[in-house]
Amino acid sequence: MQKKTEVHKLELPTRLPIGTVNAYLVRAGSAQVLVDSGIHTAECRDLLADQLTRLGVHPNDLDALVLTHGHVDHTGSTQWLRDHGVKVYAHPGVANWLDPDGEWARYREAFDKQFFRLMGMSGEDILYAERMLNFLAQLTDRSVVDVPLLPGEAFAPLPGFSVLYVPGHAQAAVALWNEQTGEFIGGDQVLPRISSNAVIEPQAGAKDGSQAVRTRSLIQYRENLQFLQSLSIDTVYPGHGDPFQGVHSLIASRLTEQERRRDELRELLGQLGKSSAYALAVAYFPERTDQAPLILSEVVGYLDWMESIGVVVSQLEGDGVLRWQVAGE
Ligand SMILES: [Zn+2]
Repeated sequence: MQKKTEVHKLELPTRLPIGTVNAYLVRAGSAQVLVDSGIHTAECRDLLADQLTRLGVHPNDLDALVLTHGHVDHTGSTQWLRDHGVKVYAHPGVANWLDPDGEWARYREAFDKQFFRLMGMSGEDILYAERMLNFLAQLTDRSVVDVPLLPGEAFAPLPGFSVLYVPGHAQAAVALWNEQTGEFIGGDQVLPRISSNAVIEPQAGAKDGSQAVRTRSLIQYRENLQFLQSLSIDTVYPGHGDPFQGVHSLIASRLTEQERRRDELRELLGQLGKSSAYALAVAYFPERTDQAPLILSEVVGYLDWMESIGVVVSQLEGDGVLRWQVAGE
């Protein structure tokens, strides 16, 4: 397949365990678009500006900024670019993530508190998890989405590219897809070196976040990966790590790894007898308890998946904690 696009990876520091994050300068014809904007630190913004300068681009020259999703390591210099007159294109739900003190942040905070308790976290562990999430919230900058992106539509600023919704790692997530060249600019949907976490979020709809239902993110993520298998993707430009080819075999192995992890968790749950999701997470990831919200989200995703196929059952107990056990045991 012939490439008409020029894509430059701009690698930026995050201060997070993930390491660096990528932004991309994409040129097609006379159009110049930036994908993602790093984390909200002066260090990151200066490096972004430097790398753009080296490519002969002043922020004013950009036709658009596209945000693949709203996580802090992808959106930090958004307002800085808007101040240079760049329009922000993203999934409409990303607007929520760009308002760290807004309604959505409070909704999510109420959801998280309730979620942590329901899943068996208590005392110090909850305070620690909340501190971690607050730390992340500080690494973003208040901004807005100028142009909401709709799935299936052509992405106007960049000839040849269209918009795909890719829920899973985040609910409000898009990829840019060029059917002619097979180029897929996919944010964190598929990463080359690590498997992407299908982060659980509140499903907006309840009046208060504490009453919100959780998203079944892992189930959604797997469905989306299976959908991506049907596209003739040639090159993936990921949010972390190097651009790569051969995504179909990578997705196939990710799906198999997930099935293996599912079976391991079922086995471990069988040994524990009856367990909260948090106790199961700590037993499965004993080295990663410093990442409590992440490992909890991961394990709940698997439990929801196993419950949907009848492998495990859950019951809300008198102390307000949901406990799980292997079906029929
Ligand atoms: Zn992310």
